[in-house]
Amino acid sequence: MTAVLEGRNLSRAFGGFKALDDVSISVERGQIRGLIGPNGAGKSTLIDVLSGRAQNWSGRIFLGDEEITGLKPQQRRHRGLARSFQRTNIFPGITVRTQLQVAARALGTSGLAEVIDALALGDLLDRPAQEISYGDQRRLDLALALVGRPQLLLLDEPAAGLTVEESLKLADILKDLVHRWDVTVLIVEHDMQVIFSICDHITVLHLGRILAEGKPEDIKRHPDVIAAYLGS
Ligand code: ADP
Ligand code: MG
Repeated sequence: MTAVLEGRNLSRAFGGFKALDDVSISVERGQIRGLIGPNGAGKSTLIDVLSGRAQNWSGRIFLGDEEITGLKPQQRRHRGLARSFQRTNIFPGITVRTQLQVAARALGTSGLAEVIDALALGDLLDRPAQEISYGDQRRLDLALALVGRPQLLLLDEPAAGLTVEESLKLADILKDLVHRWDVTVLIVEHDMQVIFSICDHITVLHLGRILAEGKPEDIKRHPDVIAAYLGS
């Protein structure tokens, strides 16, 4: 098995508080890896470190065979490591189409049609991006991350604020993309229905450390995981 992403001994502290404490994680190609844990576990911090947004962290990161430890977010993006944001960066007055075109131009790619098709954004292209529904904005955000077909996609609670129906639809889209496009996904999500329906492997963070790792059915039954959630 080849690791698409490998983080070694990742740590990040805020003052004296260790938000991420010597975490090593390896995500294999074609996986949908779930990253779960109680509030404050360090999940978003880990996503920030991996995507290059964090400062003052330590450890090493590899994307395939290449070390990307010192690279900026945009440099990582050009190498195929994309992330979605909790809040879509929408410019007032710009249409969905323009928003996508800007992202494509920045990456030097032209293949937007497949992204528009995969996320079913065809009917929304001429609408100002800030006027489309929240659920549609979440899909636009995912589409922006998928421009240029990244090899690795980091998602921090992509289904936040969506209805159960919208969440499961998003999960279906993700599952389909992973198989058709050979994208590997690391997803933070608090909706366990979404996590258990799409992930083949799960990492549990607690207090900045890895508490457990394994298949969904084992994680569900793991006594330490149950205790961590009950205690939070
Ligand atoms: P999660 O995403 O798992 O809920 P976070 O990674 O956001 O957790 O946060 C982990 C811990 O680090 C929390 O205790 C949080 O309060 C703290 N933390 C996160 N960002 C900052 C920051 N910018 N300054 C200080 N503390 C922070
Ligand atoms: Mg978070």
